[in-house]
Amino acid sequence: MSFFQLNSVSKIYHHQWVIKNINFGLSEGEIFGLLGESGSGKSTLLRIAAGLLDADKGNVWLEGQKLRPASDQLIPGHPDIKIVHQDYNLSAPLTVRENINYALRYYEKAYRDERVNELLQLCQLEAVAEHPAKLLSGGEKQRTAIARALAEEAKVLLLDEPFAHLDLPNRHRLTETIRELAEQTGIACIFVTHDANDALSLSTRMGILKEGQLIQIGTPEVIYTSPADAYVAELTGEVNLLEADFFKNYTNSCSKLPDGRIAVRPEKCLLSLSPTIYGVEAIVKRVVFEGSHYKIYLQAASQLLKVYHHEVVPLGKSVFVDLKP
Ligand code: ADP
Ligand code: MG
Repeated sequence: MSFFQLNSVSKIYHHQWVIKNINFGLSEGEIFGLLGESGSGKSTLLRIAAGLLDADKGNVWLEGQKLRPASDQLIPGHPDIKIVHQDYNLSAPLTVRENINYALRYYEKAYRDERVNELLQLCQLEAVAEHPAKLLSGGEKQRTAIARALAEEAKVLLLDEPFAHLDLPNRHRLTETIRELAEQTGIACIFVTHDANDALSLSTRMGILKEGQLIQIGTPEVIYTSPADAYVAELTGEVNLLEADFFKNYTNSCSKLPDGRIAVRPEKCLLSLSPTIYGVEAIVKRVVFEGSHYKIYLQAASQLLKVYHHEVVPLGKSVFVDLKP
């Protein structure tokens, strides 16, 4: 059994199973991303993991100890498991420092001051420590909520959609903060998201949640390159779902799906302007600039194909597509 473990966890709402037989575990310092669409059960699962909501079947274990049912407790939850909800619930007129300090109100002042300073540093909040919460950016609010959740030492941190309201620079910054937290404190972290990029870039391992079921668990690399099915392939990034024999000379470098098709990521495709030995011929239909590359839409026989290329290609031109090794 892992440091933190969910065993056969299921939950029923209105005669419907919204969480179905979830099994996974985390080691200390591990960051587990749960990727799923809205309504797939992410928040429900997180609340069960926090001990705030009882599962109808299965259990949650921390260091070999079963969590007590929420319904048995005056204040549900577990002292070593902290959750940050989607709405941060900060006190708007209070400063960042005061918001964090409040979580430590039962401790001695000397300890409190020291611990708050440590958290401000850990969560990159020193520059805004004396700003009232209502004036913070989304990223600063999220980091303050995390700092407050971690005010008392914890073993597990659960984050519900931590990136939801953040722009790109703040997302990168929060990613760094969470990674450093896990490295420096050894805390095990589960975050849920509907954004594949966030899940892929932050998780040490991740899981795909679909209609309450975990349909694949693995490292981001494995999930991205060998998706369990077409749903996972499309959820985790841009992909071509093609007939099995589309790249018949490259079958070994294609990821096969249970429905018989193959999944090919656009960046795996190599576009050439002149014929190649095994290249599949295609016609350029559309070209879109995406920053690091151009996305080229191609028509090859009856199939549409997206590939990434480093330069513009003229519309209507005949090109040849191979797969990179
Ligand atoms: P997500 O966080 O992935 O959007 P949720 O965990 O909030 O998904 O919800 C999963 C499913 O459970 C949804 O169909 C939702 O309507 C249902 N659900 C969530 N909370 C409750 C509740 N308190 N009572 C009844 N149904 C609920
Ligand atoms: Mg949710």
